[in-house]
Parts: sequence; C-alpha cells; structure tokens
Amino acid sequence: DAAAGLSTIEKENNGRENNVAKIKVVVRKRPLNKKEVARKEDDIVTVPDNDSLTVHEPKLKVDLTAYVEKHEFCFDAVLDEFVTNDQVYRATVEPIIPTIFQRTKATCFAYGQTGSGKTHTMQPLPLRAAEDLVRLLHQPIYRNQKFKLWLSFFEIYGGKLFDLLGDRRKLCMREDGRQQVCIVGLQEFEVSDVQIVKEYIERGNAARSTGSTGANEESSRSHAILQLVVKKPNEVKESRRNNDVNESKGGKVVGKISFIDLAGSERGADTTDNDRQTRIEGAEINKSLLALKECIRALDNDQIHIPFRGSKLTEVLRDSFVGNSRTVMISCISPNAGSCEHTINTLRYADRVKSLSKSGNTKKDQSASLIPSSAPTLAVPAGAGDAY
Ligand code: ADP
Ligand code: MG
Repeated sequence: DAAAGLSTIEKENNGRENNVAKIKVVVRKRPLNKKEVARKEDDIVTVPDNDSLTVHEPKLKVDLTAYVEKHEFCFDAVLDEFVTNDQVYRATVEPIIPTIFQRTKATCFAYGQTGSGKTHTMQPLPLRAAEDLVRLLHQPIYRNQKFKLWLSFFEIYGGKLFDLLGDRRKLCMREDGRQQVCIVGLQEFEVSDVQIVKEYIERGNAARSTGSTGANEESSRSHAILQLVVKKPNEVKESRRNNDVNESKGGKVVGKISFIDLAGSERGADTTDNDRQTRIEGAEINKSLLALKECIRALDNDQIHIPFRGSKLTEVLRDSFVGNSRTVMISCISPNAGSCEHTINTLRYADRVKSLSKSGNTKKDQSASLIPSSAPTLAVPAGAGDAY
C-alpha cells in the first residue's frame, strides 16, 4: 500500500540543498475507469512498494500462445490508485514550499498520455500550495518583509502563448540583456486568500483551448502553466524598471512555483496524421517534450549549458532551470491493458529524466536499458514517438 509508506518519501532527500531533492520523479497510477471495467480490461500495473512498479505486458508468441512480459521500474515514489490528491500534494509539492522563500524557482510537471489523470492530479495542487504559501507569508519571520503572492495562468498551444486570465490574448516573450525571459503583457494578479486563487484557477481552466471535438481533445494538445510568485514590494513606489524581470509589477521576485499540465504525451506522435494542423501541433509537442527532458537532465547534471532553446515551453521556463531550482515530475499512467504501450513509453521517459539524478537508481526494465542513458537524444530527428 503506497499510501501507508508515504512518509518514507520525505526521507529520501539525498542530503541535497535545503534537504529537498533537486529533481524528483514520481509516478501516479489511476484506477480503472467505468468503461475499462465494463470492457473487462485487465489492470496490468502492480505497485509492490512505494518506489517501484511492474507493468505486465500481454504478448503473443509467433505461434499465437499468450505470455506476459514484465517491465520493472524504480522511481522516487510510486503512488497507486488508492492515493488521494492530498497525499499527492504531500509527496510532491509540500516539501518544496518553504524553499520558495529562499529564492527557489520550482516547477511541477504532470506528464502522461491523454486520460491518464494529469489534470485530475494537477488541478488541486496550486490551491493547496497557495494555502501553505499564504500561511507562511503571515508568519512572524516573513510578515515584516511584506511579501505578497501573485498568480498568472497561460497556455502554450501550437508554439504560441495565450493568457488564460486575459481573454486568451496572444503573448510574446522578450529576453533582456541578462538573458532573463519576460512574457510581455501577461496578466498577473495579487492573491491574498485561497478563495480568490480558486476563482482564478476556474476562470483559467474555462479559457483553455476547447474545440468542436470536446474539451479533453483540444486541451490535450496544449501545455497549461499556472505560476504562483512570491514578491517583495519595492520600497520606493515607482521603481526604476531597469529591464530586470525580477523588478516586475508588484516588486522583486523572491521565488516562484510553476504548475504545468503538459500536452498528452501521445500527441507528440501525431506527426504523420493526415490533418496538417494536427501534424504541426504534434511536431511542436514532440519537440517540447524532448527539450523538457534534456533541460531537466542538464539541470540535474549541473551542466552549464541548458538547452532551453529547444522549444517554446523550455524557453518560457528558462529562469526555472537556472540557479536555485527544484523540479518535480509527476508521470501519470493508465492501468488498463489497452494503454500498455503508452504506459511503458511514459515510464521510459520518466526513467530517462531520472536516470542521471540518482546513481543508485537501478533500471530494471531490460528493453529500456538497451539505450544508454547518456545518449544525446536531442540529436534524434523529430518524428513519431521520439518524445519518449
Ligand atoms: P488527462 O488530463 O491526463 O487527460 P484527466 O485528469 O482528465 O486526464 O483524467 C481522465 C479521467 O479519469 C477524468 O474523468 C478523471 O476524473 C479520472 N481520473 C484520473 N485520475 C484519477 C484518480 N487518481 N482517481 C480517480 N479518477 C481519476
Ligand atoms: Mg487534461
């Protein structure tokens, strides 16, 4: 039972700065849904303990006799279908919250195929984080500093930025002399209590890309980015805006946390679709998921050169990949046999993100280990399924 063992997650911080691991990869398995149960689909994912899982892949031999191929994986934490959203928060975001006041730029990603539970997992997290941030703001040590909490919410769709709290206005990025990224015109709101945060989140979600094909269909092709920023108001009312993004509206940025509901990972494979628009979007998603993996790996490797320029997503997150940063990746997986291929792809992606960050992290999946973890994956030409 993964829930019972959650407290052990707190223990494995590897003695890193602030006692919080710089990169954490967590997997969350959702329960079988009604349709899958009605189809009598098998649940092929088992979670023997709180940091490993096994995928039992149904296969056929050439003579058509059935057999099962087992794929075992280890991560920082594996959350099974009985784990609540509150427990997810405590295992992922909660330990990072205090570091936001120590100039940390934190990022929490939800990765996985459409329908695997990314939005279900991601939606409550900023609300819980805001609750804790607001409480900390009012503690004696911070109260005198007059810190304030700010919120923004935008979407990357087909390589373009849209303000989800500003009538979906198209936004552009600007880089200053110090290579700091600023999103021109992005609406930011000061939020003093959790109820207001809730209202902004609902407003932003309602503004996400929805086409005639239905909300989940369209939102699965976009990345939604919600940021909570702690700022210290300027002493003098009119500050000099010396092109420093840290001197933003509302004062100097102390730290921040970004919550990212990524596009469906299977969308990166839509590169051979008959529809031109779908193909372009698929290539863009593929590029961003590849670049994201490379940036997190570079970060963990303390590499000086971080390949931000690989995609719009990583460019936007540029300031979260330098200096004092924390990254949590929550890989969401579906348990049904029909999703087996996507599930294995998601776990391999997560495994590659993780493979450099903990030398003791043994990779048991034989087929995955055929590819050396140091392979320069960015060199692989963009094509179907490369995001994995
Ligand atoms: P995604 O955003 O990855 O496309 P969703 O978060 O929309 O997937 O989840 C698909 C469906 O499964 C939703 O109806 C959601 O409520 C349900 N679901 C996802 N994860 C869980 C979970 N852990 N427990 C219960 N229901 C879940
Ligand atoms: Mg979703």
